Amino acid sequence: MSSDTQDNKILIAASLTTASALAQALYIYFKNRNPDVETEESESSTSMVDPAYGESRFITRIDAVQRASVISNLSYKIAVSLLKGGENFHGQVTINFNLSYQGYHLSLDYTGKEIKHLIINGHVVSDKTAFKDHKIYLQRNLLHLGQNEVKIRFVSAYVKDCQGLHYFKDPQDDREYLYSQCEAADAHKIFPCFDQPDLKAPYELLVFAPADWKVMSTKASSKISTKEELGFQQSILKFSVNHELYDLFGDEPFKAHEFPQSQKLSTYLYSLMAGPYEAIVDEDQTEIPQRVLCRQSLTEYVKKIAQTWFKVSIKCIKFYEKFFSTPWPFDKFDHLFVPDYNMGAMENVGMVIYTESYIQRDEVFTRDKQQGVLVTLLHEISHMWFGNLVTMKWWDDLWLNESFANFISYVCLDQADGLEEYDLAWSIFLSENFWGMEEDQQSTTHPIAGSCANTEEAQNLFDGISYGKGACFLRQLFFYFGDQVMRDGLQTYFHKFAYKNTVLNDFLTELGAAAKRLGIKEDLVDWSYSWLKSSGINIISYEYDLNDQNEILEFRVIQDLHHNGQNRLRKQKFVIALLDDNMQVIEEVEAHTSDKSRVTVIHGLAGKKLPQAFFSNYRCYGYGKFKIDNRSLKAFDEKLGLIKDSMQRKLLINTLNEMLKDQELSGSQFLGILKKHLKTETSDSVLSSSLQSYIPLYHEVFVLIVKDLLGSGRFENKTTLHLLVECAINAARNDEDVLVIKKWFDRRRFTLLDGAVIEHIEVSTKHLHSITKRIFSSFSIPQEEKDNYLDKLAEIDSSDWTQQTKYYCSSAIPTVANKQKLWSQYFDQDIEWQYSNYQYSFIGFNQVIHRHLNEDFVQAFFQRIPEIFKKKGRFIAESYFHYLQPDYLVDDENIQRYRDLLKQVSDGSSDNSHFINLIKNMIDDLVLQQKGKALSADYLESIKHL
Ligand SMILES: [Zn+2]
Repeated sequence: MSSDTQDNKILIAASLTTASALAQALYIYFKNRNPDVETEESESSTSMVDPAYGESRFITRIDAVQRASVISNLSYKIAVSLLKGGENFHGQVTINFNLSYQGYHLSLDYTGKEIKHLIINGHVVSDKTAFKDHKIYLQRNLLHLGQNEVKIRFVSAYVKDCQGLHYFKDPQDDREYLYSQCEAADAHKIFPCFDQPDLKAPYELLVFAPADWKVMSTKASSKISTKEELGFQQSILKFSVNHELYDLFGDEPFKAHEFPQSQKLSTYLYSLMAGPYEAIVDEDQTEIPQRVLCRQSLTEYVKKIAQTWFKVSIKCIKFYEKFFSTPWPFDKFDHLFVPDYNMGAMENVGMVIYTESYIQRDEVFTRDKQQGVLVTLLHEISHMWFGNLVTMKWWDDLWLNESFANFISYVCLDQADGLEEYDLAWSIFLSENFWGMEEDQQSTTHPIAGSCANTEEAQNLFDGISYGKGACFLRQLFFYFGDQVMRDGLQTYFHKFAYKNTVLNDFLTELGAAAKRLGIKEDLVDWSYSWLKSSGINIISYEYDLNDQNEILEFRVIQDLHHNGQNRLRKQKFVIALLDDNMQVIEEVEAHTSDKSRVTVIHGLAGKKLPQAFFSNYRCYGYGKFKIDNRSLKAFDEKLGLIKDSMQRKLLINTLNEMLKDQELSGSQFLGILKKHLKTETSDSVLSSSLQSYIPLYHEVFVLIVKDLLGSGRFENKTTLHLLVECAINAARNDEDVLVIKKWFDRRRFTLLDGAVIEHIEVSTKHLHSITKRIFSSFSIPQEEKDNYLDKLAEIDSSDWTQQTKYYCSSAIPTVANKQKLWSQYFDQDIEWQYSNYQYSFIGFNQVIHRHLNEDFVQAFFQRIPEIFKKKGRFIAESYFHYLQPDYLVDDENIQRYRDLLKQVSDGSSDNSHFINLIKNMIDDLVLQQKGKALSADYLESIKHL
């Protein structure tokens, strides 16, 4: 069928008749010539529902491999009606594909409410069992070799858990917004499709939406028309749309938005965004049209950052174009901030979405946070090449997308012309290293190049190994082989595989060939495999011999294997810095490890005078647990603050924390070093990581901040002051401390313990929220007074922040009756909240200071949590687990509860592999904490008495 021919007929008709008469004529014309357009009666007779709707299902690699082996020349033509109200949306999809073999029982993926009709090559399918288990089975006798057409009229549900087409109603103005999130495999919750990355296809899209809504997708819309306009008729004919699809709007005004055919892309990169979003257009840039969009109530904040996003994006695109020797592969670039989102961002082609927590509302971001947000922007932009232009074949190679995007975004922030003002790239990168190391030491660790049999297991790969460790591997590859290898290899990689799919070998073959062209003798492919195909972390220590003059005779690096993972010796190169008495770097020496021998002699250090301290893995080029010798530890204990570079101080504090975990340092030793050090620390980044991550001693931290740090008067920088008071508010858990911060709310001024006002800083709306939460958690403040604070807050701020705080506060009321009421709500009632409200409610409920109120729920948690994983979506179930579990009980009895739970749910089926991993990680954590208990009894004892 040629749409051109149809268009011509309509154009002629349109010149002869009125719009409504034309619509009628078109319908009759269309109905007569196309038997696929059913009457409503015949549709209801073929209507199908999936008996397994509401249960979780996944797509297997076996199915995906079979389908990809027989399907080609695939395309989708989608029409949807997006209705207000948050319930359902309706659509029709026409799928064309070439079939080369008829031996498989072919199916489409679809998790939807209803199929109104299914037509295969013109035959209406009436067998209602064709739709089951989230699949639409395509009867073999109706398909034929060569080109096929499947047409489906469907009804799908909006979601509130960010897996599909997410619905959000803004509590501030009641406006409704939609956005799609399809990765890993949720496109089939929006429309029926072959939902796997290697069946790339072009998409055409027609959307009927309320008249005041914008609609966005991969491409810019080519036509927006009302029902009365000629374009409307052309669109419905082109998409073979039956009137009943838009009749759903009744009297409500609506528009049709038509989008031209996209480039070939994987289903997980498909996007559909709609709602009365506000758009800020980049007026200066014409090469790549950019817009920043957000919900209307956030416009004033987004306007402040839009120009930065435009500027940084263009500089970054120019950098990548040069680095990859491949031009920006798509047309426009929309940035959309979305509410209630469970991730940082998603790289939909030309239509990237970001969490609203990247927008600075009435709050102050530290420089780390500001630049960290930009790193995410650069990460998503790199995906346009890595992931969107060239895509992994199956989820096993997710790391090809994520490790690379993660690593290159830091290279870009560090090196791109015009981004010199952002100077924290490698300091922020440390969080990737810490994240990778943390997960690599757990029993659930896996190789960077993972393996997954289905899309449920694929979700497990979105973790610290694929993102953090993978990025560290690439940083090491850069350092080991030089960045030219990467540049040369990627050029050929992108040219060879544009708009196609790849596996690990394709990537390494191109890098290996580039290494050979550059005259590098070492086998890059072998070297890479040693990192990518085995899991686990190496422990790297050192020892040395001295002569009488305190000069180094021999310096040996020793490589040991961590007990978790399928560990092996690996070759890597890193830097050891020699520090003098004032912690200044005397010299940096390159060191390395071998894959053949546990011990490596570092000849470059022979003959050097013994320094005051060795700093192993200086600048963090290496990946592993790098140890500190006793002499150096003593020096760092006394003089850590003298190390000039804040990135190195942050790295060192994490190394000390790792030593604490390994029981090489006691809790009091560790805290002693930190406390001493915090008295001189000035970097926001080091302050925040020290205060937030390492000292769960609430009252002590509160006093330390409000008395010692803020009282010292040495901080004038606004962002540091904001950071410190935010940490203090979070640490205010006992009644005495809450009374102090309650006054901060009343007076809208921060004060020290002696009442002196802290200058240079005012109480922000964000602070008022944090203070209100602490007031509600308190045991001593009367409920009526608590309610007054919440009322005052609601008067000041009517945004979704207040809605979230209300969820927190209502579950934070510290009475047994309240906790019991909530527990029953969580587990016995079929609640359907917005995604983030679950978290706020759970965190308010399960506070450590309320643990004596929650004693009855400890056992109940283990009894009820398996059913949550059966009936709730993955992300919401994960919130139940993370935020309601009794992870504060570090004893044999509680560890045994987790072990029993693991036994109960390990029934051999792989569809709960994610749940199993969560339990295993928790057991690892608790066992580790318990081991450290004896050595750190003093430390843990003080945590107990909050
Ligand atoms: Zn990514």
